[in-house]
Amino acid sequence: MTIWTCATCAIEHPDTPAPPEVCEICADERQYVPATGQRWTTRDELAATGMRIVVHELEPGLHAVTTEPKLGIGQRGLLLQTPQGNVLWEPPGFIDDAGIAAVHALGGVTAISASHPHLTGSSIQWSHAFGGVPVYVATADKRWIRRPDSVIELWDGEAEPVPGLRMLQCGGHFAGSSVLHWPEGVGGHGALITGDTIAVGGDRKSVNAMRSYVNNIPLPRRAIQRILDTISPLEFDRIYGAFGIIDGNAASITRRSLQRYMDWLDGTPKE
Ligand SMILES: [Zn+2]
Ligand SMILES: [Zn+2]
Repeated sequence: MTIWTCATCAIEHPDTPAPPEVCEICADERQYVPATGQRWTTRDELAATGMRIVVHELEPGLHAVTTEPKLGIGQRGLLLQTPQGNVLWEPPGFIDDAGIAAVHALGGVTAISASHPHLTGSSIQWSHAFGGVPVYVATADKRWIRRPDSVIELWDGEAEPVPGLRMLQCGGHFAGSSVLHWPEGVGGHGALITGDTIAVGGDRKSVNAMRSYVNNIPLPRRAIQRILDTISPLEFDRIYGAFGIIDGNAASITRRSLQRYMDWLDGTPKE
């Protein structure tokens, strides 16, 4: 099977004789097509370049699943281990036998999910490698599914891919953008896995939420308020965003940052 993968966003597409004309994900106003144009690759081609899956521990019960070298926008998958089963969050757009073996050694995969369509990578290939476990996709983002498959499980509002791990739909960046709450994380203080739903600031002490991060399209006040309202009841000390970590006081940092965002939208910043 070919399984075309967009070289820019690393999202898998169906096994067709020729690659698709456009990657709808990259052609959308939230992403970009490189100046050099749309380019497609395949798992075999990536493997031939020496690409491999690397798994390393971030904290007890949580491992990063990434590629070396970096693929696409350099997304980092996360494997959350619980006694009830493991969730693979935002798997990379590549998979290999060594990576499958490493994840098996950590208890395998019970369910797969992502914060939003940009970071779904090769979710279907990862699902098939683990016996066809469900791949959760928010109904609101159904139109962005690039590789339809019977393993896809649509959900709305809230879902529990394994008992004790709750996904909550916040909207914002995408209508179905979600976070995953891991109460047992950080030694029981809780961690929030946010992907691009809540992005970690470059200063590692603020967060942000945008319709488009690469093209700087902001969100309206009501969207920021909804994110804040959705996460407010949750207890967490750490945030694992798609590209950064808030290492402590993450709940109050999130409240403060999102309030600051709304103050600027309202024209009343506290400078
Ligand atoms: Zn793409
Ligand atoms: Zn995104």
